[in-house]
Amino acid sequence: MQVVKTIAEIRKLRHRLSDPVGLVPTMGYLHQGHLALVKIARAENPTVVVSIFVNPTQFGPNEDLRTYPRDLNRDLKLLQGEKADIIFVPSDEEMYPPGFSSWVDMEKVTRCLEGASRPGHFRGVATICTKLFNIVQPTRAYFGQKDAQQAVVIKRMVADLNMMVEIVVVPTVRESDGLALSSRNIYLNSEERQAATVLFKALTLAKQLWQEGEKDADKIRQAMTSLIQKEPLAQIDYVSVADATTLEELNVIDQPALASLAVRIGKTRLIDNVVLEKDAPFGCSIAGEVFRKLHPES
Ligand code: AMP
Repeated sequence: MQVVKTIAEIRKLRHRLSDPVGLVPTMGYLHQGHLALVKIARAENPTVVVSIFVNPTQFGPNEDLRTYPRDLNRDLKLLQGEKADIIFVPSDEEMYPPGFSSWVDMEKVTRCLEGASRPGHFRGVATICTKLFNIVQPTRAYFGQKDAQQAVVIKRMVADLNMMVEIVVVPTVRESDGLALSSRNIYLNSEERQAATVLFKALTLAKQLWQEGEKDADKIRQAMTSLIQKEPLAQIDYVSVADATTLEELNVIDQPALASLAVRIGKTRLIDNVVLEKDAPFGCSIAGEVFRKLHPES
């Protein structure tokens, strides 16, 4: 495993890497959710590149950029265990040198949900992913279903701008009580950690109602909302049932839909989602399970 800090170094070694190359972009402080992406990239590509970069441009002015958890040594040990080949760990100056002034600004799918609550977030995400794709030139890039809108946005961007990369979306890895793994879960105290299960409970209810034949999206939004409102530590940011590709809110669920939510538990903002489509996975409790589901032959 090689740790690389500069774009020049990546450029120099890129032609020696065996194709296809799988890229896993992360902000570090890795958990089993990230490792599920790395495991699947490992199984599908002779070369696996993982980037670790807490991208400042996707954080709003009042968000947690300064306090975002970091532990590079631990991350590198975990990635060594997964047999990743190259770890790209650039500095802020390397990615955004003085004079930087080019942005990937998208419409429609970036404006709703996370984009409405976090203005500028997806401009930062789309720009950093474009830069990483240009630097690493991967064959495939791996993203988690946990950040469903991000996956939709990146797929849209790659299609719109004719980028030569295949986007692979990996099911959400969850704790045994359903809470989606997230680097931000570390902010929760024990009472909040217990309360945070309300997100999965609301999504489970949405999935159950839909499976029972409920087609009225508003009824599902309302059922999720009233369940979350029963949890005193939870404050809803949004509850959505939207078209899975355009992310437009639905009246009637007659196409693959995404039920998603953002909820504040104390000071911590958590997001999660479930796809309302036949056979769509709800996620698994360990990374290995995700891996085996997608690669039953191994
Ligand atoms: P982050 O470090 O939060 O930017 O996440 C890096 C990648 O890991 C993103 O594509 C996330 O969607 C993905 N990811 C984060 N949490 C999970 C999870 N619990 N299950 C699957 N993928 C995840």
